[in-house]
Amino acid sequence: MKRLLLLLTLLSTLTFAKLNVVASYPYLGKIVQAIGGDNVHVKVLASPKRDPHFVIPKPSLIPAIARAQLLVANGAGLEIGWLPPLLKSANNPKVRIGSQGFLDISRAIHLIDVPKSVSRSMGDIHPEGNPHFDTDPHNVLPMAKRIAKKLSALDASHQKEYQDNLKAFTQKWKQFLHTFDAGMKSCKGKKVIQYHELYNYLLKRYGIKSVANIEPLPGIAPSSKHTLELIQQMRKEHITTILQDPYHEKKTARFIAGKTDAKVVVLPHDVGSVSGTKSLESFYTTIRERLCH
Ligand SMILES: [Zn+2]
Repeated sequence: MKRLLLLLTLLSTLTFAKLNVVASYPYLGKIVQAIGGDNVHVKVLASPKRDPHFVIPKPSLIPAIARAQLLVANGAGLEIGWLPPLLKSANNPKVRIGSQGFLDISRAIHLIDVPKSVSRSMGDIHPEGNPHFDTDPHNVLPMAKRIAKKLSALDASHQKEYQDNLKAFTQKWKQFLHTFDAGMKSCKGKKVIQYHELYNYLLKRYGIKSVANIEPLPGIAPSSKHTLELIQQMRKEHITTILQDPYHEKKTARFIAGKTDAKVVVLPHDVGSVSGTKSLESFYTTIRERLCH
């Protein structure tokens, strides 16, 4: 009995010793878990099935933020509509924006699509630049490195493990990128349209041209005028691929496809957003297989 009690106490101490990390999106949760290993407990806030711009700030998410020692956010304005109210309710100074336990991962990325000027007439834009850098697998390593640095700073006693995990992850990811890049080569020069500019980092890297968007302005629903113009443009430029995310309506994309003989390709935007994408590898592989085959 005594031995059992000792074991239970030891186990609870070990559980207690884990660093509580909250990640805003599933892909961040996966990277944190890969680097943190057994030393972290990760809770993801946003569901991969929903629009990442409009996560519902459910009160059930507050306790995890309240006890977190680290919050890893996408940043670049993606959480602007939903994370601040949750942070306010959780009232945890450790993970407050700007504190040591708040990591804005967009700082690890060179942002593209930064608007020269910002005005309401341009739609609900991302004023800091495009925040959808997670769709490019080459952005994973800079993020993993930044996460390892932060975990090492907050939990110095496990620094060696975090650095070892980073090393192993880097080696594995470089091999993955090698295969990924080879598979994307044949798509260079391809032209596509997309619903929202979710895939710009990926498309830019592999020389795929994003010609237009189904939404006339970022965050604005498609209008019939814009849709008809799009159909004309696609016919003229022989564009046969429409990239559709899983969470927006697909009616407009299907209508355009019917008028142009283009194909609607549903691409995941995060880990777990479509079936068979539960890991980082399967998330990116699904993007490659659907986009470039
Ligand atoms: Zn966006």
